[in-house]
Order: sequence, then structure tokens, then C-alpha cells
Amino acid sequence: MNRVRFIRVTSDKFTAYFQTDGVITRASKVLGFMVGWEDAKARSVIKRSGWKASQIITSEGKQEAIEALDLASPPSAALEEHICHCGKRASFGYGVRLRKGKIGTWNCFEHRPADQCAAA
Ligand SMILES: [Zn+2]
Repeated sequence: MNRVRFIRVTSDKFTAYFQTDGVITRASKVLGFMVGWEDAKARSVIKRSGWKASQIITSEGKQEAIEALDLASPPSAALEEHICHCGKRASFGYGVRLRKGKIGTWNCFEHRPADQCAAA
């Protein structure tokens, strides 16, 4: 019933895209954590992060928007920014071994695994 919409999200670090029909079905890699979210949740995270979202309306229509989803790649600066599974900025990295190619798990203050010593 809901119309599929394509949204462009810009911040000072990246430009990315997602596709939604009320629930986000596809997203650029940098926004991949949003797939499966309802619009309202995505909207609140975008607002809280100070990002700008605009709907893409192109003469070529849907296909061009789908290509934008696939082609959009974050600039290298965005790689340094980590986002928790809840959508907040993640300042706490665990299991990070960059020299071994492990980028680890990143969490915000709220979701940092405080009691993982026993599990590790
Ligand atoms: Zn979190």
C-alpha cells in the first residue's frame, strides 16, 4: 500500500541513500544499520545526528534511485565514524585489531559490553 520512496541523507561526512515503503528495505552501506527500521525511528536518528534527509525525485525515476543506492559510497572520513546497532555514534570499540584487519564491534556508551571479560 505504501509507496516506495528514495531518501538521500547528507551529513558533513557522507552522502548516502535509503529506500523505504514505511520500513527501510535497502540502504547504502553507511546507513546499512537502518535496514528493517520503521520511518519514524530512522527520522529520529537522522534528526538527532544532525543529518539532512531529502526525498529523491528524478526524471529517470526509480531505476536511477536504485543505482544511487548501489553507487553511493562513503568518503574515507566516514570509515572512521562508527555507529552502534541502536543508531547512536559509537565511541567504544571492542576487538579492534586494525593491523589484523579486524574492525571489531563498536557501541555507544549505553550499549558498551561492560561484562564481556568473562565471555572473552
Ligand atoms: Zn547503542
